[in-house]
Amino acid sequence: MARVQLTDVTKRYEDVTAVDEMNLDIRDGEFITLVGPSGCGKSTTMEMIAGLTKPSDGTVTIGERDVTTLPPKDRGISMVFQNIALFPHMDVYDNISFGLRLRNYEKGEIDRRVEDAASIVQMEGMLDRMPDEMSGGQRQRVAIARAIVREPDVFLMDEPLANLDAKLRVHMRTELQRLHQELETTIVYVTHDQAEAMTMSDRIAVLNRGELQQFAAPLTCYNEPANEFVAGFIGSPAMNFTNGDITASGFSSTHYDASFPTEGVAVAPGNPVTLGVRPEDVYPEEFIEDAVDPTELIGAEVDVLEPMGDEIFVYLMLGEKAGSGMGGDVSGDDSLLMSVSPDSTIAEGDRVEVALDRAKIHLFDDATGEALVHGVSRRTGAATDARGEEAE
Ligand code: ADP
Repeated sequence: MARVQLTDVTKRYEDVTAVDEMNLDIRDGEFITLVGPSGCGKSTTMEMIAGLTKPSDGTVTIGERDVTTLPPKDRGISMVFQNIALFPHMDVYDNISFGLRLRNYEKGEIDRRVEDAASIVQMEGMLDRMPDEMSGGQRQRVAIARAIVREPDVFLMDEPLANLDAKLRVHMRTELQRLHQELETTIVYVTHDQAEAMTMSDRIAVLNRGELQQFAAPLTCYNEPANEFVAGFIGSPAMNFTNGDITASGFSSTHYDASFPTEGVAVAPGNPVTLGVRPEDVYPEEFIEDAVDPTELIGAEVDVLEPMGDEIFVYLMLGEKAGSGMGGDVSGDDSLLMSVSPDSTIAEGDRVEVALDRAKIHLFDDATGEALVHGVSRRTGAATDARGEEAE
């Protein structure tokens, strides 16, 4: 087990800065996930921890050691990648023990480690199976067991579930969490899938364009996103955003206003802000008593319904767009996505009145993209520290 620290780590390629002054302090035994859209620098960051890529600037520390210039084999790490490369002509036992045999470990020690690792990934009775006799999930478990037997200080996993089908991926998420609980080893995990990041990690590091946006517990990123990028990236379906202005009495946009006290908001009236609200924090009039602090009603027309079973996604059109039949686009200021209970009797084409829950409204400063306030009725006044560690 070991703490992993990146200090001002930058990686420049000729005309791209893949990772820009990254600072990460990963606690001993923590499961953290690097998440962000394709090209944001996740793999490059991971490769610099692994020793596969050398930083242009900055230092990488594992445990007490500065490993910035050490080769991968001297870093006390094990890696699991997306492409499961098992040796096809070797059975499970030989695949798992390959690295140990190469390093001339004693037979008894190899047997002990292989048995332990196989039981952790629940492959005990299958040590003589060949790769072509196993499912994709079983092969991935063998790859994980092969990483476990090396008893590393840190596991590095780069999209290890990406090639598995959806059902197996969800199952393997649970297995990886169990594995982490059992081994208590530091895990650094890479994925572009925010749901995977949310469900498994102690903390997630959200990256965009090589820069760290927020490093915090999944629910903190969800409830108190540091900026508009994190707000839009974490959560599915995505948060609604409306462009408008802060006024003396609240928020004003082309198609709706929302009143709230603005003294605590760190931008002066007249300045452009973006209001963010998640689909589950928009309420139709029929369920308005469920909101903590509903805003004034907003007139809308129901464009499209998407029944999901446990909830219904309702695409709403505001203002002139209502009636034009051009909905389904929730990125514009003239639409909102609302999620309602399946008990709702809302139908496509209905004229409805909806309210936003003030307690769940986020405001972002258009000048910087940074969060100003989470919950306008609580009037916290300032967003939580965007980049720093959470309070312990
Ligand atoms: P992610 O893993 O988040 O998809 P990467 O870390 O692979 O992102 O890449 C980050 C950025 O660095 C991208 O713009 C990518 O094109 C660039 N990049 C990565 N590796 C190289 C390389 N070897 N040479 C040049 N540019 C690279």
